[in-house]
Amino acid sequence: MTEAAIWAALADVRDPEIPPVSIVDMGMVHRVTAEGSQVRVEIMPTFVGCPALDIIRRDVVNRLRAVPGVGEVEVAFVFDPPWSSDRITAEGRERLRSFGIAPPPPSGRDPAGAGRLLMPEEAPACPYCGSTDTHLENLFGPTACRSIYYCDGCRQPFEQMKRL
Ligand SMILES: [Zn+2]
Repeated sequence: MTEAAIWAALADVRDPEIPPVSIVDMGMVHRVTAEGSQVRVEIMPTFVGCPALDIIRRDVVNRLRAVPGVGEVEVAFVFDPPWSSDRITAEGRERLRSFGIAPPPPSGRDPAGAGRLLMPEEAPACPYCGSTDTHLENLFGPTACRSIYYCDGCRQPFEQMKRL
């Protein structure tokens, strides 16, 4: 069993809220360590309020136990460093869009870790037609981590994942 095999298996574990996107796409896997047949995976929870952490833990354990050579699997949730929406991969952002969710804008967070927001938030491009003629409809979408926008181009509502 290699670390690469573990990462490949983790790429099969879906975000319970957004099935086309894996926890690897979301940048939630902080670290993988293997000692003998024992594997420890450190997961960075995304948004407080929509974690579905128990499901993720169960899915990670079930998926990794199917990898040849893997025995015990430990899943730890780490909050430091905190997850940022900047960790979502380019592929993940594409998959969010294909699911009808505009990916979050860059957090504008100072890479030095000062946590300062440097950029104002702009209206996101519509994931369906690409128009930037969109406006905020409701800050609170179906989950705490998404906002509802309305596209004035193709006249339909869509969600945007909030930046964090
Ligand atoms: Zn549109």
